[in-house]
Amino acid sequence: MSTHALSTSAASDQPATTDLAADLAAKDLVGLDREQLIEELKTRGLPKFRAGQIWHWIYHKGVTDFAEMTTLAKPLREELAQHYKIGRPEITREQWSEDGTAKWLLKFDDGNEAEAVFIPDDDRGTLCISSQVGCTLTCSFCHTGTQRLVRNLTSGEMVAQILVALDRLGGFPTAQSDRKLTNIVLMGMGEPLYNFDNVKRAMMIAMDGEGLGLSKRRITLSTSGIVPEMERCGAEIGVNLAVSLHAVTDEIRNKLVPINKKYPIKDLLDACRTYPGVNNARRITFEYVMLKGVNDSVEDARALVKLIEDIPAKINLIPFNPWPGVEYECSDDETIEKFAQVVLKAGYASPVRTPRGRDILAACGQLKSASERLRKKDRIAAIAAASAG
Ligand code: SAH
Ligand code: SF4
Repeated sequence: MSTHALSTSAASDQPATTDLAADLAAKDLVGLDREQLIEELKTRGLPKFRAGQIWHWIYHKGVTDFAEMTTLAKPLREELAQHYKIGRPEITREQWSEDGTAKWLLKFDDGNEAEAVFIPDDDRGTLCISSQVGCTLTCSFCHTGTQRLVRNLTSGEMVAQILVALDRLGGFPTAQSDRKLTNIVLMGMGEPLYNFDNVKRAMMIAMDGEGLGLSKRRITLSTSGIVPEMERCGAEIGVNLAVSLHAVTDEIRNKLVPINKKYPIKDLLDACRTYPGVNNARRITFEYVMLKGVNDSVEDARALVKLIEDIPAKINLIPFNPWPGVEYECSDDETIEKFAQVVLKAGYASPVRTPRGRDILAACGQLKSASERLRKKDRIAAIAAASAG
């Protein structure tokens, strides 16, 4: 499997905007939750069941043109088209890898851009989406952390990342038996728990059974550890949680993930212990980026498994993905393997193979590195399997 050759093509099938001014004036229905859609349509005197029909067209069928909503009378379709749009951001760049990985750079109405990445696997297809443009946090190993925050993404902009992926993957109508897009990870740019309300609304739309129909068990939100929001995340959104731990002492974690000074490891792990819905079938994923000489010793590995021993957990070792000017290097293969052995012996299956954090992060913005890491992952997974047998 080669992931080197990427074919880049400008997306050519964007809807032509004939009347830009009218398009900008039209209100986008994408991103409104059900209640909001009902309220919005009520302002035009439309009953609740119309909202249900329109919802179905937008999120089940994936239509972007009111003219296609054939369960509505023609004059109503025309009226809706005058006032609303069913938005898709402009695809500024689209890339496909030979292994089916796809990457879309999307431009929103104000010119800001965000990336979404699709990674197919044997039994799933995972879309990595962004929650912010940039990030206010400054994790020292993260490229996003060096960018100035531009802004939170709206719920519509997050949902649009899913809609674009479905458009391009042929994922509409959504009730297909062999769905290509089965999982969502909030592991792109940004700290999702700093954009809680919009993330929540976007995920509610994604999980709606009469629309996109993605199960909350197949959605994972990754946080750097915004402790006060974690409980709400479990209680109100109900998705899986991934926690960017990356270190076993506050001293090191303060340097890697500076928000640790505010919410230290002990508080973070307490919030994990009490995360709503956490149990052995529903584990917390601890992400741990492998940084040479910083956090990658066998002692660190032992301390890691000890630290989380009473939490139903998975461990996801992420080979560091370097970027220009960064002070860190990725741990060498041997060190990662030794670290992984300790984690394996403690009973955590496939610590490196457990996919999303790493595969997807790599893909988010750095696809070539992703392919290199995939190969490394495969090798380590083989070692893991061998030692298990
Ligand atoms: N802000 C959230 C989610 C986005 S980052 C968070 O921090 O969890 C998704 C994951 O990628 C996190 O575990 C993050 O620590 C990790 N990451 C960031 N930069 C990385 C890099 N250069 N190499 C490897 N992992 C990285
Ligand atoms: Fe933000 Fe996550 Fe990057 Fe930290 S690792 S700077 S929280 S995106």
